[in-house]
Amino acid sequence: MGGNSPCASCKLLRRRCAKDCTFAPYFPSHEPQKFAIVHKVFGASNVSKMLQELPIHQRADAVSSLVYEANARLLKQKYFASKCKMNK
Ligand SMILES: [Zn+2]
Repeated sequence: MGGNSPCASCKLLRRRCAKDCTFAPYFPSHEPQKFAIVHKVFGASNVSKMLQELPIHQRADAVSSLVYEANARLLKQKYFASKCKMNK
């Protein structure tokens, strides 16, 4: 990875993106919403911990299921929130 643009996670958390950044391979800077959503649902530190515990070849799969899960949860929240509004 070249250039000096931080990955999506370091950008959002306003830290310097290290060369060995755990997030960089899975959360590229051109897909900021991908990290934003897992950060919102699971929290960046949990995601980071989880990635570090996994062997590298399993990380990509884990990230895509996290993104999937986070999207599903947010959709559910939105759905219930709109239902609540309707009942009022
Ligand atoms: Zn980074």
